[in-house]
Amino acid sequence: MIKSKLPHVGTTIFTVMSQMAAEHGAINLSQGFPDYDGPAALKDRVKHYIDHGYNQYPPMAGIPRLREAIARKLENCYGVSADPDTEITVTPGATEAIYCAVTAVIEAGDEVIMFDPAYDSYEPAVLLAGAKPVHIPLEPPAYRIDWERVAKAITPRTRMIMINSPHNPTGTVITAGDLDALAALAEKHDLIVCSDEVYEHLIYDGAKHATVLAHPTLRARAYVVFSFGKTYHVTGWKTGYCVAPAALTTEMRKVHQFVTFVGIQPIQQGLADFMDAHPEHLTELPHFYQRKRDLFNAAIADSRFVFEPSAGTYFQLVDYSAISELPDREFAAWLTREVGVAAIPVSVFYETPPAARYVRFCFCKEDETLQKAAARLVGL
Ligand code: PMP
Ligand code: GLN
Repeated sequence: MIKSKLPHVGTTIFTVMSQMAAEHGAINLSQGFPDYDGPAALKDRVKHYIDHGYNQYPPMAGIPRLREAIARKLENCYGVSADPDTEITVTPGATEAIYCAVTAVIEAGDEVIMFDPAYDSYEPAVLLAGAKPVHIPLEPPAYRIDWERVAKAITPRTRMIMINSPHNPTGTVITAGDLDALAALAEKHDLIVCSDEVYEHLIYDGAKHATVLAHPTLRARAYVVFSFGKTYHVTGWKTGYCVAPAALTTEMRKVHQFVTFVGIQPIQQGLADFMDAHPEHLTELPHFYQRKRDLFNAAIADSRFVFEPSAGTYFQLVDYSAISELPDREFAAWLTREVGVAAIPVSVFYETPPAARYVRFCFCKEDETLQKAAARLVGL
């Protein structure tokens, strides 16, 4: 007989809602992926490498050219230095990097603190390591981390704190003060930090991303994870990277080399060219998405959804309690079926959901898609 190692895990909500959207012909503002393509120049470079023989295994840590381009980007964006040989690992997606980081350093019986609503890949990684996820809820509507509560949750078994900023699904961002509070606890209790920064460039209203890498105390004890999928509108390319001090990177690579061994060769080659040729892509990105956020929010301003404009990510959280008393899973299903707009319920990312009614809309969509969806939402 098979005894499940993840008895409580079903199909992820992203797949469930995208399938439901397809079945009902609804506009899909649920799962986070653009309905437009990545830059033509990037696709051309990847096609070039596919056509010119770059189709075999790349080096395990990623092609040196791409790791060097990443190091330059970290320097340019954050003034952070990272050694491409010993501190940067290219992975097939941020998800793989997170899984490898957790697996590398978390032992059976350890405790790992995460904040709910938590991205859905964190808990399974911790459980498969035989460790215990310790969930700390973020309370709506502000969804800020209560560091006193974190301090109280730390035990002698605590080994890691996982954070995510800009935060999926709430769209909140952490501050320099949050990083100081995290650093004080991590240092005091000798903890490792896993920082999911896949939405680093999707930050709005002139704010600057507070990366863990720029905080010296945290830099020395953190895995920091990024995703090209979000930055270059190519989520299906599943390419990301992990930055960590050499000792942590060595352990993470031991796992990575037996989970997937490598990321994909022609994609890495194409990304390396594009990063160097088009640095402006990164500076334009916040404006590109802020405009979409504002367009969508303006279009639903007259609806009965209540919301604060998202501070980061390409997600907008909305409170629908003036519209319906249904629990959020049912509301999202109803919205998909009856209104023709698919959204993500938020309670599924909580161990103990708060008594609040929120769903998440994704605004990395063509303007036309957003306008069409909003037109259906304003009438509710
Ligand atoms: N973390 C968060 C918070 C995400 O939203 C995503 C998006 N899917 C990931 C990690 C995974 O990124 P990737 O597709 O590069 O694995
Ligand atoms: N990160 C994407 C989201 O939040 C989904 C990724 C996935 O489907 N696993 O919508």
